[in-house]
This record gives sequence, structure tokens and C-alpha cells, in this order.
Amino acid sequence: MNPEQHHHTIIIGAGPAGLFAGAVMKVPGALILEKKEQPGRKLMISGTGQCNYTHAGPAGDFLKHYGENGTFLKKAIGTFSNRDAVRFFSDRGIPAVTDKNGKIFPASLKAGDILKALTGACRNAGTGIITSAAVTAADKYHEGFRITTGGRVYTCRYLLIATGGLSYPATGSTGDGYVYARNFGHTIAEPRPALCPVVISGFTFGGLQGVSIKNAKISLIRNGKKIREHCGDTGFTRNGLTGPGIIDFSRFIEADDMLEIQLGSQDAASFEQEFLKTSAECGKTSILSFLRSSGLTRSLAAHLLEEEKINFEKPLAEISKAQRKALVQKCCAYPFRVLHKEGFKTAMATAGGVSLKEVNSSTMESLLVPGLFFAGEVLDIDGDTGGYNIQAAFSSAWLAAEAIQSLIQNKGHGG
Ligand SMILES: Cc1cc2nc3c(=O)[nH]c(=O)nc-3n(C[C@H](O)[C@H](O)[C@H](O)COP(=O)(O)OP(=O)(O)OC[C@H]3O[C@@H](n4cnc5c(N)ncnc54)[C@H](O)[C@@H]3O)c2cc1C
Repeated sequence: MNPEQHHHTIIIGAGPAGLFAGAVMKVPGALILEKKEQPGRKLMISGTGQCNYTHAGPAGDFLKHYGENGTFLKKAIGTFSNRDAVRFFSDRGIPAVTDKNGKIFPASLKAGDILKALTGACRNAGTGIITSAAVTAADKYHEGFRITTGGRVYTCRYLLIATGGLSYPATGSTGDGYVYARNFGHTIAEPRPALCPVVISGFTFGGLQGVSIKNAKISLIRNGKKIREHCGDTGFTRNGLTGPGIIDFSRFIEADDMLEIQLGSQDAASFEQEFLKTSAECGKTSILSFLRSSGLTRSLAAHLLEEEKINFEKPLAEISKAQRKALVQKCCAYPFRVLHKEGFKTAMATAGGVSLKEVNSSTMESLLVPGLFFAGEVLDIDGDTGGYNIQAAFSSAWLAAEAIQSLIQNKGHGG
């Protein structure tokens, strides 16, 4: 084992949170330790390699995109906002482009440009990055911490844990930060896959992969009671449901829940009213064309009619009351029973993590261990799709870096 090396700050993890903290650190000499051979593996695949790093929405709207834990980020997003993120990168030669949904990307649509800007800014800030340096232990040591990797021991006065969550473990996020946090006495809210497709019991729509319902209304039913509602584009996989509508809603979904989805454009009352009116006025209309006129794609309408064993050309006037009632339900609130969510292997984020009750939301410092900080997805924060997760990583890292700097200025770095 080599002799100990001292740094004022050690950052574990070179994802967006760790790199950003290193990039904005004003006191040179911090060190980032990264397990993988390259920094930012997950950042490189974010936004399908284009890196949707933030969202154009008003700052006040941001917090609504983090479920029930959004208020924790009030100070972070208020201090380092989406506009600040865009400015940070454009100041470094990476202009932004905004798509029609408000998602912000580098204009080159290359995640590599964001990564290069971050590693370049770390270099300029005097923050070192060591890759292939998996931290195996993090302990309290005198006034600071002792960090062990395979071949080295480091000491530091301040420690920032930015190890991410548990999703896409191949990128290096394997939940190590939870182990260190627990050892320091922190509570970990149970990590769960978030931003993921769901697998449906007895799914019959597997042949409709690629079909998407625009802004579908989705009701979440638990124990027979509607507990939430959400709207968003919804699509079908081989064995379940996907699309931004489902993925953003997935943080609330549990096994055995029922998802009732409006497959067409009308709610049950207007669908049935329109059905009866058309049947009375124009009874020869085929059931298939009626379903098409009520906002269902041809393939979806055909699928529902096959499920009900109704001939596509059957005139509306000949549809029985029982068939009509069944179609009303299937078109307006098709019931999908959730078998389970897809796991961490494909989840884009992790819900749960270091309990927010034990972290100062103005500084990201632990309320239990002075000098210990957290940033990014290791915290019990998960955002919607659209750039909210990377922005949360940047904003929380900004607060941590600012707080560490003022501690160094006031108390020194224990070298
Ligand atoms: C496919 C996919 C697409 C996504 N697209 C977007 C998007 O477009 N926009 C968006 O906002 N969000 C997106 N996300 C989510 C976003 O990428 C994450 O929320 C974000 O990367 C979290 O940043 P982080 O720095 O907290 O953690 P991570 O990016 O997970 O980084 C943590 C780092 O810590 C390292 N590490 C872990 N343990 C150790 C250890 N023991 N020692 C040393 N290093 C360690 C890991 O190797 C990793 O590099 C996407 C996620 C996925 C999986």
C-alpha cells in the first residue's frame, strides 16, 4: 500500500454530480476517484447519447418534476438553475438547442461535448480525476476522512459522495454510496427502479410495439381506489407499457396496481353518448370506422374488436348493449394489471437513496457527520424525463462545492 495522499476534498464518482462539483470548485487540489476506466459513462448514454442536460421550463415549475421530494431541491435549483446550466456550457463553447418539448441538449447533440466541457473545467479548476479507482472503503479519520481504493489510501478534510444510484449498473452506479452513507449513520430510503417501463400481467398488446397514444390519460388504481392520475404519451412493449407517460409515472407504480388507460380521445360518457347518437342517426357505420373516429389508431381499434370477437365491419346499430359496454370500458379506461416494473438494468433513475431528512438542503452537507456531503442521484431524489435528473445533479453539486469552499476558507483543509 502506498503512503497516504491528502486532498482538501475527495469526490467519489465522476458522473454529472461529481464532475460538476470538481469543475466549479474554486480551491484547487480536490480529487475525483472514479471506479470505471472513463468518467461519465452514464452521462455518455443519457438522452440516447445526445444528453438532455436540462429543461427550458420556468424555474418555479422545476420542483414539480421530482415527485414528493422536489421541495428539497428548492435552494439548489434556485441557486444554480437551468439557465445557469445553459450559460455554463455556452461559456465553454457548447451552445444549447431546445426541442419542441422544452428539452435542452448541446447543439451538437453529442453527450461527449458535455463530458469534455466538464473534464476540461475540472482541469482548469485544479481538480484531479483518477479513473479505474474503485473506492472500497470510506471512514472517519481524525478531523476528516480516509478513503481506500484497491491500491491506495487517501485522506481528506471534506468528502463528497456522488456515486449515483443503482440503475444501469454497467455504467458504474452500483449503489456503493448507500453503503458508505449507512456506515456514517445515514438512513437509506429503499432504492427502487424509477423511470422504467412496466410489465403487465396477461398482456395482449405485444403485437402493437411501436404504436403510441398521444397524451393518454392514465389512472392509477390501488386496492380498487383511484389514487393518482397522469397524462403522457404511452406505448407498448413486448410485455407491457412504456413511453414518457408511463416512465415518468413509474415512481408511483407498484406490483399489482391497475393502470386504466384511455386509448382514444374521449372519456366514457362522451364516447357512449357519441356511440348512441351515431348508431341512431347513421346505424350502418361500421364499428371499426366509429372507433377510428373516436381517436383510436386502426391497429388499436382492430385489436380491441378482436379481443371482443366483433367483426370490424359490423354496423353500429347491430352492436349489443353488452358489447357496447365492453367497448366503452376498453376504449376509455382499459385495465392493465401491473405484474412488476422493469428492474434496475433498464431503469433510467433510482427512486430512494440517502434520506433527505439527514441532509442540509442549503449545503448538501450531512446533518449527522460534519464535512460529509452528498450530490446527485445518491440522494433520495428522482426527476421526470426531460433533463431534470442531470440538472438536479448539477444543482446539488453546485451547493456542495460552494459550501466546501467556504468551509476551506473559514477552517482550512486539514492538510
Ligand atoms: C439510459 C439513460 C438515459 C438517461 N438520460 C437522461 C437524460 O437525457 N437527461 C437526464 O436529466 N437524465 C438522464 N438520465 C439520468 C441521469 O443520467 C442520471 O440521473 C445522472 O447521471 C446521475 O448523475 P450522478 O452523477 O448522480 O450519478 P452517475 O451518473 O450514476 O455517476 C456516478 C459515478 O460514480 C461512480 N462510482 C460509483 N461507485 C463508485 C466507487 N465505489 N468508487 C468510485 N466511483 C464510483 C460510477 O462509476 C459513476 O461514474 C438517464 C439515465 C439513463 C440510464
